Amino acid sequence: MSDLCARDLRVLWHPCTQMQDHEWLPLVPIARGEGPWLIAESGKRYFDGISSWWVNLFGHANPTISAAVAKQAHTLEHVILAGFTHRPAIELAERLLALVGPPFSRVFYADSGSAAIEVALKMSFHFWRNVGQPGKQRFVVFDGAYHGETLGALSMTQVPLYRETYGALLLDPLVAPSPSGAFGSVDPAASAASLDALRTLLETYAETVAAVVIEPLVQCAAGMRMHDPGFLSRLRSLCDRYSVHLIADEVAVGFGRTGAMFAHQKAGIRPDFLCLGKGLTGGYLPLSCVLTNEHVYAAFYDEYRTLKAFLHSHSFTGNPLACAAALASLDIFATEPVLARNAKLGTAMDKALRELAGHPHVRGIRRMGMIAAFDLVDGKGQPYPWQERRGLRVYQHALTEGALLRPLGNTVYFMPPYVATPDELAWLVSVAARGVEAAT
Ligand SMILES: *Cc1c(COP(=O)(O)O)cnc(C)c1O
Repeated sequence: MSDLCARDLRVLWHPCTQMQDHEWLPLVPIARGEGPWLIAESGKRYFDGISSWWVNLFGHANPTISAAVAKQAHTLEHVILAGFTHRPAIELAERLLALVGPPFSRVFYADSGSAAIEVALKMSFHFWRNVGQPGKQRFVVFDGAYHGETLGALSMTQVPLYRETYGALLLDPLVAPSPSGAFGSVDPAASAASLDALRTLLETYAETVAAVVIEPLVQCAAGMRMHDPGFLSRLRSLCDRYSVHLIADEVAVGFGRTGAMFAHQKAGIRPDFLCLGKGLTGGYLPLSCVLTNEHVYAAFYDEYRTLKAFLHSHSFTGNPLACAAALASLDIFATEPVLARNAKLGTAMDKALRELAGHPHVRGIRRMGMIAAFDLVDGKGQPYPWQERRGLRVYQHALTEGALLRPLGNTVYFMPPYVATPDELAWLVSVAARGVEAAT
């Protein structure tokens, strides 16, 4: 096993990692997965408390999804999606549209969450150009937003850690305050202030704004910062009033994470663009998509020489293997009471989290659907300076107990696969609680 680590560190460059850390922080080589568990080459088992970066829904090596991917691999692994098409791409689009309902009527495939954001930004911009309002070029985002890390998507991201270094390369969106309150809490006053600021921005700049981009209900990467559905309905009204698009980035919160199949459905609104990724394939393969309506689609439909067409593609757009995985994942949603089961798991997490209420180093205990979090604070109730990397100590402690938790700064969070049991989740929270002791 140490041989694997040495070989890895000779040739790999890991994502989102200061590689020097691995002089003292061991890598964990994983041999296989089984439900919510990851089994290391050493034989040690790790509970995947973060769904492997929020992608996994129904466990690792899920028999239903694995069988579907294997079958598809023996049938058609890939084909160009320009000029050609295939059953999995068609059926998946039909089923996604049935899940979100009208007025969504079109699905554009891409291959990562970031790519879906790029598509939505370009489509919105290009829409306004096609309908004779080429001045609408800018975007509005919220403080704390995370929309990915390719340059266009990173431009929309407002988490300084990821953005600041590359600032000189990026677009310059207008920024409204985050809709959530202290320690990521749902906070009606913060949401109202955010909307007021947004209204002022739109009053001044709407003529030059193409779209508002939001992570509905939970700003995940910023530290699981939550807001309530009422904010989204008021946001939708503002976008309508000022004639700007609403782009909903449900890359992280789609597919049941917040308790509804899609987060915007909790507010009863319809965004103009809906970006999906991560859990789309049950966490099996890179696939993303942007859903939009016929009004948007029609603005691109014309003779070739008008250059109104959306000339955007990725090599693996609509990959059949990925579509087959997504269809199998939707089969599980269709045949099992997933959301009802998750509601029970959520109650189990609440119960376990109550043990932490009043802990002197814990603030902002919160949960929405299958996302729960709290923040670490010092003896005076203040966040620790990020340089102290307290969350990393929780990560290290969790590994010793056989759990994968990966705090975001001071925010310790749980985003487990939906196949966890209530007992496993209670245990996971207790691991985090012992991690807090180790870290503070
Ligand atoms: C992860 C994430 C993205 C980017 O997706 P990638 O597949 O990592 O490119 C975009 N938006 C949100 C809200 C995300 O959580």
